[in-house]
Amino acid sequence: MGRKVLVLAELKDNKLRNVSFEAIAAAKTIAEDGEVVSLLLGESVESLANELIQYGADRVVVVENDKLAQYNSDGYSQAVLAVIKQEDPEAIVFGHTALGKDLSPKVASKLDSGLISDVVNVEVTGGNVVFTRPIYSGKAFEKKIVTDGLIFATVRPNNIAALEKDESRSGDVSKVDVDIKDLRTIIKEVVKKTSEGVDLSEAKVVVAGGRGLKSAENFKMLEELADVLGGAVGASRGACDAGYCDYSLQIGQTGKVVTPDLYIAIGISGAIQHLAGMSNSKVIVAINKDPEANIFKVADYGIVGDLFEVVPQLTEEFKKLKV
Ligand code: FAD
Repeated sequence: MGRKVLVLAELKDNKLRNVSFEAIAAAKTIAEDGEVVSLLLGESVESLANELIQYGADRVVVVENDKLAQYNSDGYSQAVLAVIKQEDPEAIVFGHTALGKDLSPKVASKLDSGLISDVVNVEVTGGNVVFTRPIYSGKAFEKKIVTDGLIFATVRPNNIAALEKDESRSGDVSKVDVDIKDLRTIIKEVVKKTSEGVDLSEAKVVVAGGRGLKSAENFKMLEELADVLGGAVGASRGACDAGYCDYSLQIGQTGKVVTPDLYIAIGISGAIQHLAGMSNSKVIVAINKDPEANIFKVADYGIVGDLFEVVPQLTEEFKKLKV
């Protein structure tokens, strides 16, 4: 017998984030031959429901309310709790994103449940759902099962592959009215610090720069390389502290955790706190003039050289491959 699993869909700029599809794939594994129900919250979002079905959801529950136009944990938790009460699922899956990290513990604690966060793999063995998550800043992995009660989990972006989009799939989309009580905080305006471009935590390619870039002006050369590769720019804390870029780009223990297919570390020494945010990337390329730099210990490919010579050459070569 399968399980009923609820998955929260996440939006960015009115589009579904890829992590929503990855969470559906995780939910499918948890559900076995049960049902995956996707939960879509927002002000006017119903038109997106079909895409969730195409990525594997069996059914979508839509809650539309002007109090849900912007993410706020107060309104969102009321909506999620109401739908959990109505659907009575055995498991609830969120993305391990800023939103998921904020909302999931709030909802889980309201229901007196635990939470398995930052999951990178899910499998079912011997009837148990087994979650794998990194510990000790990614140096080891632990496997966890929930023995009693509701299963709450957040899945790390870029780790569990989304299912192929199947445009022939169909499923029920239902709207649920939730009476959301007055919000204690109201978001008046969202001011974006970084330009559009690829979302760092979901990027397949990350071009990250460190203090070796030496100035904010030089740091811009990373944007060109990231552009050619269709990736996002990240940074070490050294680069952020030096004022070369915004802190929203920081990767590491006190920054973002990324697991792209390709991570290019440029002028980054490889301090343990930086490695905590990127060492699980699938392929790591390091460019550093110091052959003893710690970053080479985790790199699959290393280029010992002056970044000011290597990076422009790389960018030019990748440009040629594109045409
Ligand atoms: P550096 O260590 O100064 O390294 C610069 C590198 O550039 C050197 O290896 C050098 O050989 C190379 N270089 C210089 N010039 C060139 C050139 N022309 N060509 C090629 N290579 C060149 N750090 C993070 O990144 N993320 C975190 O989340 C984070 N959290 C922290 C939390 C705590 C509590 C603490 C104490 C520290 C944290 N740090 C974090 C800081 C971390 O310890 C390092 O100080 C930081 O990562 C160093 O940044 P960096 O590698 O850019 O600079």
